[in-house]
Amino acid sequence: MINKKILYIDMDGVLCDFNKAVESHPLKNKYKNRVDCIPGIYKDLDPIPGAIEAFEYLWDAFDVYILSTPPWRNPDGWIHKKEWIEKHIPKAKRRLILSHHKNLNKGDYLIDDSHYRGQPEFEGEWLHFNTPDFPNWASILLHFSGIMDKEIVAGFKEDGVEQDLERHIQKIENDSSTDQFKIEDGVLKDNIDKIDKEQADMYNAEVEKMNIMMEALGDELKGLKNISKQLNTKK
Ligand SMILES: [Mg+2]
Repeated sequence: MINKKILYIDMDGVLCDFNKAVESHPLKNKYKNRVDCIPGIYKDLDPIPGAIEAFEYLWDAFDVYILSTPPWRNPDGWIHKKEWIEKHIPKAKRRLILSHHKNLNKGDYLIDDSHYRGQPEFEGEWLHFNTPDFPNWASILLHFSGIMDKEIVAGFKEDGVEQDLERHIQKIENDSSTDQFKIEDGVLKDNIDKIDKEQADMYNAEVEKMNIMMEALGDELKGLKNISKQLNTKK
C-alpha cells in the first residue's frame, strides 16, 4: 500500500453518466443552463460503461481516491454523490474528496473529463477522459498496462469493454460514411451569381465546419482502431 501511486478519478462523465440523466430528464428545458440544479439529478446515475470494472482493477494497482466537484447550488447533490459511491463502489466510500480546485490535491494521476477545475495544473499526469487519447475505460487501462498486470488488462477485455470499443468504432465508421456531406472547395463558386452571396457564404462556412468535424471523426477512428489492435495483440 505504501508504495502505490496516488490516482484520482472524477465522477460525472467518468464514473457516472450525468449527461445521459440530463438528456432523459423531464425538467431539462426548465433548468436549461443550470442542469446541475435539477432536483435529484445526481441520484441514481448510471455508471459509465466499463467504469466499475475498471475501478476494481485500478483499486488493486493504485492508491485510489474519487475527486469530484460538488454543485454549489444543489447541496442534495453532495449527499447523492456519497450515496452513489456507497451503492456502486462501497469499498471506496471513505475515499470521496469534493473540491473545485483539483490541482491542489497531491498525486500522480488524475482521470478527468473537464479542464476548468484546475485539471491542467494538476502536478501529476492528467488523463483527459472522453477525448481521442482516452475515449473510454479500455484506453485508460491500456495506458496503465505497463504498471498493471497484463493479465488484468486482458481480463478487463473479457468483461465486455472490447465490445463497447468495437461498437464505438462501428458508430464512428457509420457516421464517417456520410460522404454526401463532403463538398469540394469551390463547388459553390460556379453558382455564386445565381444565389445570394451572403447565403452562399453562410452555407460555405457550414460546409467547412462539417468537413472539419468529419476530419476529427476520422482521427478519433484511427486512434480507436489502434487501441483495438493493441487489445487484440495482448490476448
Ligand atoms: Mg467530470
